[in-house]
Amino acid sequence: MTTHYFSPGPATLPAAVRDLVKLELLDTFGIGVSVMEISHRSKHYEQLNDETLRLAHDVFEVPSTHRLLFTPFGAQQHFSLLLNHLSRPGDTVAYTETGVWAHLATVDAQASERNVVVVFDGGPKLNSLGNPKDWKIPEEAKYLHLTVNNTVEGTEYPTLEFPGKVPLVLDMTSALASRRDIPWQRTDLIYASAQKNFGIAGCSVVILKNDIFEQARATAKKNLLGNALNYCSIFDAKSILNTPPVFPIFVANRYLHWMKSVGGIETMEKWALERARMVYGEIDGEFYQGHAIEGHRSRHNFVFKLKTPELDSLFVAEAQKEGILEIKGYRTLGGVRASMYNGISLESAQYFAQFMRQFRSKHG
Ligand SMILES: *Cc1c(COP(=O)(O)O)cnc(C)c1O
Repeated sequence: MTTHYFSPGPATLPAAVRDLVKLELLDTFGIGVSVMEISHRSKHYEQLNDETLRLAHDVFEVPSTHRLLFTPFGAQQHFSLLLNHLSRPGDTVAYTETGVWAHLATVDAQASERNVVVVFDGGPKLNSLGNPKDWKIPEEAKYLHLTVNNTVEGTEYPTLEFPGKVPLVLDMTSALASRRDIPWQRTDLIYASAQKNFGIAGCSVVILKNDIFEQARATAKKNLLGNALNYCSIFDAKSILNTPPVFPIFVANRYLHWMKSVGGIETMEKWALERARMVYGEIDGEFYQGHAIEGHRSRHNFVFKLKTPELDSLFVAEAQKEGILEIKGYRTLGGVRASMYNGISLESAQYFAQFMRQFRSKHG
């Protein structure tokens, strides 16, 4: 039986990428050495690294106003790193409380002696992202931090147009490479770890605006960040400041190649919307209750409940018998969460929607 693995992250890789990684694992460069063993200062690895940087620029559609680096951190390290590159103690920074990850980012800012203004709090339900037109974003804020897709709660901003002029900082960990409407002109910084939309755990990308680059370098130094934590030093070293996570970078390289070969973000976005259409199509009936309000639904994380917790459990158990795994809802939310990132095929989404239909006709 085929396994349909809808984990929120780490997540299913595209089948073609998994096959290629297996094929190339032990002799990656045709010299009888695995990427896991090769020196990161070797010609072969440097080529792989340069190509990965170029591909990421290209596939993520990063304009020439911005630069991109790979870091050996996860998204959570960036909560603290980004604020230390973009602000000093006492500065005003704006945050939104839209979910578990947004909250942890806010808490790190609050613990760093910043004047943190929460411009929107969606709690306790966290099923809506509010109306940005109503937000009072202080003009002096160094940035407005937004979690583009709330992975746990299954909410996502329908547009990234926000009122005012305060620069944006975007956590795109579960959104990068799946939507093209990034307001680049206004965006100072984007970060995303790889294990959701473009790779496996162990690396992340940071995208920084050229205009603020030197200032960010100086601010990080003033905030006493060490050299290896400075985005600008990592960028200067072409993302090989210290020994990089060579295997995750290799997987990201093959993933980026794959995305490019099937049509880039344009295709990723189309497929994400298509998968979402299939699953929300089932949620929209009487039987399932979707968590997110309709205009703020995530295109990657489908969160819903059935009539009773017992029925939720039965749904998860029956799904498992059909090869559908890792769909139990987050502990604070309960219910069901099926996560479908760029690696999930349309067929797999179809299979899940069909299962939902069958379950409803049996128990509805
Ligand atoms: C998964 C996730 C994180 C945490 O990522 P790590 O790489 O595990 O630190 C942060 N933000 C969002 C939106 C996520 O989906």
